[in-house]
Amino acid sequence: MSFANLGLAPALLSAIQRANYEAPYPIQIEAIPALLQGKDLLGLAPTGSGKTAAYILPILQQLLSKEALRDRAVPVLVIVPTRELAVQVAEVAENFSRFLPRRIKSLAIFGGVSINPQMMKLGGTEILIATPGRLIDLMGRNSVNISRIQTLVIDEADKVLQMGFREEMEHILEYVPKKKQTLMFSATMDGEVEELIQKLLNDPVRVQV
Ligand code: AMP
Repeated sequence: MSFANLGLAPALLSAIQRANYEAPYPIQIEAIPALLQGKDLLGLAPTGSGKTAAYILPILQQLLSKEALRDRAVPVLVIVPTRELAVQVAEVAENFSRFLPRRIKSLAIFGGVSINPQMMKLGGTEILIATPGRLIDLMGRNSVNISRIQTLVIDEADKVLQMGFREEMEHILEYVPKKKQTLMFSATMDGEVEELIQKLLNDPVRVQV
């Protein structure tokens, strides 16, 4: 199996090659074609499985084929539990983006550091990777608009909930549009994760690795 069999456009294939990924990992083989078709996805996958590239690559392809949104409206929102993961996901996105015909801007925002530098960097962001608390802060200051997102990713959903972000998640979800593509990744399953799946995912493709 090669990346070329998964429906990725030549621009993405060349970025993958330049990032030195030789062959797709199992989660990428299953998730990429489904995501390119616009399906919702539930990935039961831990860190190390290659889940980040499994969703970032189709997202980059979708963004490349569309015009950038204006104003402060971001097209893609990735919710993560921690600063570390936010930074990692932004690095993966950036690593591919720098080889694409159009640079797609990703930004990681997280709490525990001052908010102003993050606010100043928001302009033109197409993939916003955020921890829930800081995202709500920025929404409250009208610095970010998530009302027109096309794709929502909740990465490490189990950890997001375990860290006590349930109320923040509910708040954030009130502002996202109903029509969107939604992806959820979780290493473990429990009642709270199940509830979020029921609420958010529409006939999802399930991938377990
Ligand atoms: P993740 O599970 O997304 O944290 O990815 C784990 C690690 O695998 C990261 O260091 C990725 O850069 C790397 N990786 C993901 N997919 C591939 C691939 N197809 N070939 C080589 N390395 C990969």
